[in-house]
Amino acid sequence: MEFKILKKSKKSRARLGVIKTQNGNLFTPAFLPVATNASIKAVDSKDLKEIGYQGLISNTFHLWLSLGEETIKKLGGLHKFMNFQGVIFTDSGGFQVFSLGWGMAHGVGKIAPIFPEEREIKVKAKKEKLVKITEEGVIFCSPYTGEKKKLTPEKSIKIQKALKSDIVFAFDECTSPLSSYKYTKMALERTHRWAIRSLKEFKKRGSSQAIFGIVQGGEYRNLREESAKFISSLPFDGFGIGGSLGKSKKDMFSILNWTIPLLDEKKPRHLLGIGYLEDIKEAVKRGIDLFDCAFPTRLARHGEVLTKKGKIDISKRRYLFDKRPIEKNCRCFTCLNYSRAYLCHLFRRKELSVYRLLTIHNLYFMFQFVKDLQNQIKNGSL
Ligand SMILES: [Zn+2]
Repeated sequence: MEFKILKKSKKSRARLGVIKTQNGNLFTPAFLPVATNASIKAVDSKDLKEIGYQGLISNTFHLWLSLGEETIKKLGGLHKFMNFQGVIFTDSGGFQVFSLGWGMAHGVGKIAPIFPEEREIKVKAKKEKLVKITEEGVIFCSPYTGEKKKLTPEKSIKIQKALKSDIVFAFDECTSPLSSYKYTKMALERTHRWAIRSLKEFKKRGSSQAIFGIVQGGEYRNLREESAKFISSLPFDGFGIGGSLGKSKKDMFSILNWTIPLLDEKKPRHLLGIGYLEDIKEAVKRGIDLFDCAFPTRLARHGEVLTKKGKIDISKRRYLFDKRPIEKNCRCFTCLNYSRAYLCHLFRRKELSVYRLLTIHNLYFMFQFVKDLQNQIKNGSL
């Protein structure tokens, strides 16, 4: 992987770049749709390509537990399996494992607004202590089968290697927004030891993949700074900023302000699991290059579509008489071909095609939104 910065803003920390991999180039800032089960729900690779997506992120935890690593290996990697010619990221699985634990312990989750499918899993899982964290790794009950499973830094990297994603993430502990300073500090030190183990496993056999380290530290300034310095000192190819990002958007932006100046500026930075429009723009200004979030695809499945004037709930009866497209001047496949009336009718009748059509529009909207930010950096206005 090679990351090239094409232009730096004079007004902010925003930058325009390109990530080059053997599976193609990804221009940044970029939004990555979330392919939890090697699929962006309701659409396929052809739809993504037509919209313009050059990259996506898939999910180590779910693929490992549902398919098993042996199957993944035999299938020849994710690109082939899901027929996507572009840059594939995989997360480490840490976020899902730990959110099983603190979802139970604290009854809260960063997961709730990010990966809604995890919420269903939590409910299905047995009401017992689901996660045991040791220095070696994490033991947990599979939400699929109830059987005991162990995930370690080495195991996470092995699975991600078998998935043959272009960019893998180091295994980290994602702490709860309610974790105390003392706990967050202890977990952070372990995460740093796991970062070294992840790198060691990653370097074992030559690989054309790249690896990103993850900055943790919760909402605590000195821990975030310590983590950014430490992770930046290791030979990672890029960085993720993960974990609890505080209790408000203000907290989140403070965390970015503290950490980003401490990261090697020649390497890409990924804000994990965040993808609301207003957050993306503010984070780009602070120097974030990559985002992922299930929100636009999830909204679509609930009948909500994104427009420049805000969200529209297409299921509302009043749209049955509306001959306009979702958004005037939108060039997506859905808006070029179908009216709000038709989409409203499909949604109310629960016709399956509507999920694809609405998802295409929302993904197109996100793609254009980020492309517009790229243009603003290009012309010097951001
Ligand atoms: Zn559209």
